This record gives sequence, C-alpha cells and structure tokens, in this order.
Amino acid sequence: MSNQPRVLVTRLIPEVGLQRVRQQCEVTLWSEDMPAPYERLLDLVKGMDGLLCTLTERIDAGLMDAAGQQLKVISQMAVGYDNIDVAAARTRGIPIGNTPGVLTDATADIAMALLLAVSRRIVESVDYIRTGQWQTWQPTALLGTDLAGATLGLIGLGRIGKAVARRARGFDLRLIAYSPHCPPEEAHALGVELVELDYLLSEADYVSIHTPLNERTRHLINRKTLAQMKPSAILINTARGGVVDQHALYEALQAGKLRGAGLDVTDPEPIPLDDPLLGLPNIVILPHIGSASQRTRDRMAMMAADNLIAGVTGQPLPTQVN
Ligand code: NAP
Repeated sequence: MSNQPRVLVTRLIPEVGLQRVRQQCEVTLWSEDMPAPYERLLDLVKGMDGLLCTLTERIDAGLMDAAGQQLKVISQMAVGYDNIDVAAARTRGIPIGNTPGVLTDATADIAMALLLAVSRRIVESVDYIRTGQWQTWQPTALLGTDLAGATLGLIGLGRIGKAVARRARGFDLRLIAYSPHCPPEEAHALGVELVELDYLLSEADYVSIHTPLNERTRHLINRKTLAQMKPSAILINTARGGVVDQHALYEALQAGKLRGAGLDVTDPEPIPLDDPLLGLPNIVILPHIGSASQRTRDRMAMMAADNLIAGVTGQPLPTQVN
C-alpha cells in the first residue's frame, strides 16, 4: 500500500488539477457525469485524508464523521461554499479551501451577457427567427431597454461585483451598490456610489446580485424587495439561486411588476422543466455557467488541487475560508 495521503475527488475535474493531485496523493475519483448520491459519498469518503469537492455535493457533519478523524482538509472547487457546513468543519478543526479570484472575470462576463440578453431581448429575438415570425424589419418590434444612461445597482461589491462595475462603466451605466462593509474609497475608485438597499432597489433600472448565499442573504430578493423595484427594472442573478425567492420572482414577472430577469443560478439546480419561470418570455435562464470557460475551470482545478495538497501535508491552505 502506498504511504501517500488518500484523497477523494468527487467529480471529474479538469485534467491539470487531477494530475497535480495524482502526483502527491492516492486518488479515489468519482468520474461519472452525475454526482455521487449522498449515501455513496458516505462510503467513498471513509478513511480519506482529504476531500476535493464541488458545489454539487452536500458536505455536512455526517459526511465529515463518515470520513473519520484523519480528514485534514475540504477543498472546494468554487468560490461559494454554501454547500458545506462551515460550523461543523470548524468544530472538527478541518480547514476549508475555495477558489476565489480566478473565476471573477468569467462570472462578471456572464452577468454582463445576461444583462444584455434580457435588456435587448436576445433570446426572444433568436426564437422570433426560429419560429418563422421574422417577416420584415419592424419599427416597433422587439424593443428593449438601453444600458447607456441607466442605473445599475450592484448588491454585493466584492470581487465579482467590482468586475461587473468595471465592465458596466464601459457601457456608460450609472453605478450604485449596496455592500455594507465595502470601503467607500474602493467604490469611488470604480465610479460606484454606495447606497442603502432600499434606495438601490427603488432607483436601479438593473439590479445585479453578487453576494454569497448565507443566512443573511437567503431570499434577500423576495415579494417585499421585488415590490420596491421599478416595474421597468431587470433582475440579474449570477450569485446563488437561494438569494432570490423564485415564486415571488415568477409572480412579479407574470404580473408585469418587473420587466425581466436573467439567472445563471436557480434553486434548485437544475431548475425542474415544469417550473413556471421557464414558460415566461421575459426571462433568460442559464445552467450555472458563470465560471465555465476552459481557462477558468483549469485554474479553479489547480487551485483546488493546491489547497488539497497543502491540507493533507499539514501546510496552511493557500486560500482558506474558515
Ligand atoms: P466576495 O469577493 O466575497 O464578494 C461578495 C460580496 O458580497 C462581499 O463584498 C460581501 O461583503 C458582500 N455581501 C455579503 N453579504 C451581503 C449582503 N447581505 N448585502 C450586500 N452585500 C453583501 O465573493 P465573489 O468572489 O465576488 O463571489 C460572490 C458570490 O458569487 C460567491 O459567493 C458565489 O456564490 C457566487 N459565484 C457564482 C458563480 C457562478 O458560476 N454563477 C461563480 C463564482 C461565484 P462582506 O465581505 O462585507 O460580507
């Protein structure tokens, strides 16, 4: 038997990351397209020194206990880690690694893509051709809303929120943000005015969410906060599905109390095919592709590998969340 640390890699991650892990660890890999069922994970994790996981796995106290006391690190290949019970890891002294920074640009690009897609009705326009409705250039067909001169409200001005602000400046948007702990000078340097949430909701033509999902942000966008938004506004969510109450969002879109929405994330994921949101024309929903560029996923895999290796060899993690 090898005396290398034993690690479980819960999904088929990019090869560059896997190779890095294989050089130093004995790897058990769950390589199927679908994530392992929780019960299967409980089995697989037994006796592991390290765990490299993604947001499709629920990493709770039960799983940590199933691994055993030798579990030294949980390395998540994502920046968000709402699928991990952080308190349970803390109690057990297990550090959690994540992959901040390397996915910022890719995710900000998707936020901008959604903003443009919904405001200029891109998906509706594609369908318009595909369904044979395009008969002529029409002065009043498929009219959307402008970005230039409009106000974009960013909820959460962290890495991704700031990257969206940088892009949005190029589209001549006025920028406001609600992010309670952001130093005003950092916001000002980006041309962003920090405001209270109530003001942002009532003032913004476009609202884009960039917070983590936690107890404070779950259903931050709900019936009440949606009612504070302009009926002409568009909501973009590339953070986590749970930040938005989707029933309330459906009601608002259906009733014309909100112009449109663009979601890269839903709750649950995947969104069930019979979800009424999918039947609305004024929404664009993507299958959580914020970080889905080759370079970004390669970098995430390498960073997750580095955190894993550091953890199993008793070194401080390069990027640790707890
Ligand atoms: P980050 O740098 O930590 O930024 C998050 C920001 O949100 C921080 O400035 C934080 O402020 C702020 N915030 C926290 N709670 C808030 C609240 N209640 N109201 C307003 N602002 C609040 O994280 P990031 O790298 O930008 O990533 C943000 C999130 O995006 C991740 O947690 C993840 O869930 C999601 N994400 C999604 C994708 C995708 O594929 N769609 C890809 C990457 C990330 P404090 O620091 O003061 O709490």
